[in-house]
Amino acid sequence: MDLYDYNTVKRILSGHGFTFSKALGQNFLINPDVCPKMADSLSADEHTGVLEVGPGIGVLTKELCSVAGKVVSVELDKRLLPVLDETLAQFNNLEIVNDDVMKLDLHKLIAEKFDGCTSVKVCANLPYYITSPVIMTLLESRLPIDEIVVMVQKEAGERLCAQVGTRLAGAVTAAVNYYADSETLFDVARDSFMPSPKVDSVVIRLKVRKDEKYKVNNEKKFFTVVKSAFSQRRKTALNSISNTMGISKKDLTEIFDNLGLDLNIRAEKLLMDDFIHIAEKL
Ligand code: SAM
Repeated sequence: MDLYDYNTVKRILSGHGFTFSKALGQNFLINPDVCPKMADSLSADEHTGVLEVGPGIGVLTKELCSVAGKVVSVELDKRLLPVLDETLAQFNNLEIVNDDVMKLDLHKLIAEKFDGCTSVKVCANLPYYITSPVIMTLLESRLPIDEIVVMVQKEAGERLCAQVGTRLAGAVTAAVNYYADSETLFDVARDSFMPSPKVDSVVIRLKVRKDEKYKVNNEKKFFTVVKSAFSQRRKTALNSISNTMGISKKDLTEIFDNLGLDLNIRAEKLLMDDFIHIAEKL
């Protein structure tokens, strides 16, 4: 069964009376080059567990089952379950979980499903409406995973993989950078999907650090400072933090002066250490 063939996919889906849901970010890959490249980039073996979010009709799932010891795919849309039964029937190292990835206890799922695996990785063509929330949940929960290889919209990918302190950086850039090393793997054109979205995509890799790179005493305060600094991008970081966190400009000016920071600096120019030091002084 060729899941990359437009007519085959159409036949399978109409056989199950399936119609695409835009709200669930259902754009299925039909470019045969993408999924094998994503699966290969994991360097997985028979001891590796892979967690997939949103298998769709199973194009990527199939490749993951071929390279890993165990694959668990979380799919919210229950209309896809009979489709996956048909398309992935030959794999006995696969489990489909019908649930919302944002509501699952992922610690429990990993402990239960990947017992005996020497490493666990996440690989997915993410539903675009929850790209950042999914990535941040995976990282903030400090799950026992060592890497995340995901396809995201090009613009989101540029932000996620930007260097902190550069024009493309946002709050999510600093947040990702806190937990992981990011890199862009390859671009994917919009006509690789059915139906075709309005924008191109990119596959990125986040290597989750085992050791802490940054020493932060109060993580909650650090993330509040980061979010506040970027919340009003047109304003200076000082004004943005002051307005959002309700801290007087006088106090913040003193802190910026003590840290040797330009009072007119914008959040995109601040480095990780700057955010950390500002949070420490507050
Ligand atoms: N992996 C398939 C592919 O590459 O062709 C499908 C990817 S499609 C962009 C996103 C998939 O995520 C869809 O199957 C959609 O139903 C599923 N999905 C959307 N929201 C979800 C959620 N909250 N939890 C789990 N799966 C979700």
